[in-house]
Amino acid sequence: MDIPFNKIHAAGNEIEYISNAMKRGKTSSGGYYCKEVEKFVESKFGARKAFFTSSCSAALDASAVIIGLENEDEVIMPSFTFSSTANAVLARGAKPVFVDIEKVTFDMDVDDVKAKITAKTKAIYPVHYAGISCDMEAITSIASRHGLKVVEDAAQGVGSMYGGEYLGTMGNIGCLSFHETKNVTCGEGGCLLMNDSTLDEIAEIVLEKGTNRTKFLNGEIDKYTWVGLGSSYLGSEIAAAYLLAQLEEMDTINRKRRVATSNYYEFFRASKLVEEGHVVLPSVPWEMRSNYHAFVILLKDEKTRNETIVKMKEKGIAVASHFVPLHSSPMGRSLGYEEDDCPITEEVSKRLLRLPMHTGLSTADCQKVVARLEECLA
Ligand SMILES: *Cc1c(COP(=O)(O)O)cnc(C)c1O
Repeated sequence: MDIPFNKIHAAGNEIEYISNAMKRGKTSSGGYYCKEVEKFVESKFGARKAFFTSSCSAALDASAVIIGLENEDEVIMPSFTFSSTANAVLARGAKPVFVDIEKVTFDMDVDDVKAKITAKTKAIYPVHYAGISCDMEAITSIASRHGLKVVEDAAQGVGSMYGGEYLGTMGNIGCLSFHETKNVTCGEGGCLLMNDSTLDEIAEIVLEKGTNRTKFLNGEIDKYTWVGLGSSYLGSEIAAAYLLAQLEEMDTINRKRRVATSNYYEFFRASKLVEEGHVVLPSVPWEMRSNYHAFVILLKDEKTRNETIVKMKEKGIAVASHFVPLHSSPMGRSLGYEEDDCPITEEVSKRLLRLPMHTGLSTADCQKVVARLEECLA
């Protein structure tokens, strides 16, 4: 590919930090770099307490255990998300209740959230699509009115803000991703942000694989034992060392993505694509609060979108679609959902096209992407 869809940013200090981690002789969770990553996230994002995990999926899984989801509980989340959000809930025996998205931000529709609340609802899992915040003021106020927990899936929103607050710090729990495809990466990694002190005690047990090892490490008991549910959710020291180097460059990474984003806007405005109705540009106030995770456009219909992916590939440019709506997936159908349960999700998912987005995109690259799209569409 002349212009790849994603390209891993090289911050510079990764190898040095990884090599230091190995020299220190501790490579499992809880070492120097894990603590440095957690401190960095706590101070940079203003998170009450952060735990470095092996992925965002692991953080989501842990969150579902920590908030005590069980059989018969219902959890409201958008259908327009990655499978991990729903798996975490389903693994506890709880039911994911899918809501539709709204047309501007592609985030969960707050009115649909209100409509889907029942006596069984236990939590809301807002997903900050493409790094654009959900309406957290509305969501947290609905949650407190109904006594629900809020767990933010901020996998795509690392470094994005809502008002003056970083995504992942507003719900009872927040989950971040440092997967290769996200802005800041260590291959596979995540963070569990614990913003609610009433969940600290249970979180310690869940993160220590169901034991009271934390009390033991703090000298409160003389040996530790199995006391509840838990698993191996925490990340390794090697991944944390890689990640610290990347986190230190986060502002530079997101600034470069912002430049690429505004370049795209400029070249689209100079083209006839928008005017002639071939392309709908994102109309969110990106400048306000995004980490520029993805540049997303809508094309006329599914056929055009699918053909465009193939044609662009032939021209050496990788573009992509996502997400496959969860409610109408084979798994969603087996849970009893039907295609027209979330009509906007269906439509957006069919028309959506993601353009290359990474720190290696030059102005000329952005110009080329738009010019090739013009050849395909106009
Ligand atoms: C990437 C992503 C995840 C999963 O993150 P991992 O770190 O790969 O486990 C979960 N939810 C959303 C919305 C994502 O985009």
